[in-house]
Amino acid sequence: MLIKAGLLIDGTAGPAQTDCYIAVDNGLITAIGRAGDFAAAQVAAAVDYSAYTVIPGLIDPHVHLFLEGIADIKSRSARWQEDKELMLIRAVSNLARSLKQGVTTVRDLGGPYGINLYIKKAVNQSIVPGPRVLTCRQAISITGGHFHYAGGREADGPDEIIKAVREQVKGGADCIKIMMTGCVNFVCQNAGAVELSPAEALEGVRQSLASGVTTLEHGALIDETTANLIAASGVYWVPTLVPFERMLEYGRNYQTRTLPVAGIEAVYERHKAMVLHAYQSGAKIVAGTDAGALGAGHGDMWREIALLVDCGLPPVAALRAATGLAAQAVGLAEEIGTLLPGKRADLLILAGNPLTDISCVRRVVAVLKDGIANAS
Ligand SMILES: [Zn+2]
Repeated sequence: MLIKAGLLIDGTAGPAQTDCYIAVDNGLITAIGRAGDFAAAQVAAAVDYSAYTVIPGLIDPHVHLFLEGIADIKSRSARWQEDKELMLIRAVSNLARSLKQGVTTVRDLGGPYGINLYIKKAVNQSIVPGPRVLTCRQAISITGGHFHYAGGREADGPDEIIKAVREQVKGGADCIKIMMTGCVNFVCQNAGAVELSPAEALEGVRQSLASGVTTLEHGALIDETTANLIAASGVYWVPTLVPFERMLEYGRNYQTRTLPVAGIEAVYERHKAMVLHAYQSGAKIVAGTDAGALGAGHGDMWREIALLVDCGLPPVAALRAATGLAAQAVGLAEEIGTLLPGKRADLLILAGNPLTDISCVRRVVAVLKDGIANAS
């Protein structure tokens, strides 16, 4: 199969290319070139996306497949008590939604009942359509710590934590998720109170960096010194802007008394400023939605990419944050994230030019995963 791209943004640090052809065979990209590089008959039969932009399939390194990102707090709380069978069905539905929005790889960072592993197997066996799935299986926290209520593995002290890590690896985890701090949560019993103090947040980030984590998730409430540390450490920072922005939007629209809009706004604005500061200091900023968190929907990568631009990142950097850099962050840079010969043919075709109008990442024309069209 030959694909003609009007504009190609390949997920590397290189420039965008116009009017080029992508050859796909057996799920892999075999060549990229001009019309003259291919046989005339092949060029004549090319799938014509000359009016569109082709970018790599999006990689969301932070999702929770068993949850949907509903903004309504009461409905959401009821989800924790739900039957596991329903959670599993919801995960299937979430997967399909992600793929339709151009997400071809997700990393599930924690959920109950091994749902994330079943889902991974189901996708690998082509039982259900969806992005390829990586997962940490259970997130590890201290007893009663953040996310323990969502099937987390509680562990205290070095010996228990070693055992908990081994359990995840034995069970098929692709990565290990450790909860280093509590969360900045505006929707618990003490509405209006930020659970985590800035000092605790800073200490959590510093300890994470010192421990040698590969990716840092959220990182709210940090200061410029810590943002500089993030840049210097070489860690991939996934600031997950979507749930912050969604919480703020929800709070404003519904004027609910349970959501302290001013508090959320202050945390969100600070978070955005630190993302820009870290980016300007050379940090590897990666797009990730925390899909399943309050208001963060599966497939919302278009939103996260636009929010990175809103922070002040150039559009090309925001796209790379969701493709080439995200692939590095999840350890699959050899296979996905860039459109180069030998890589998997995960392609997202967009109506518009995201370099001049980032909102067009939402305007999906087609999605190919391993060279196979899944949505149009
Ligand atoms: Zn999360």
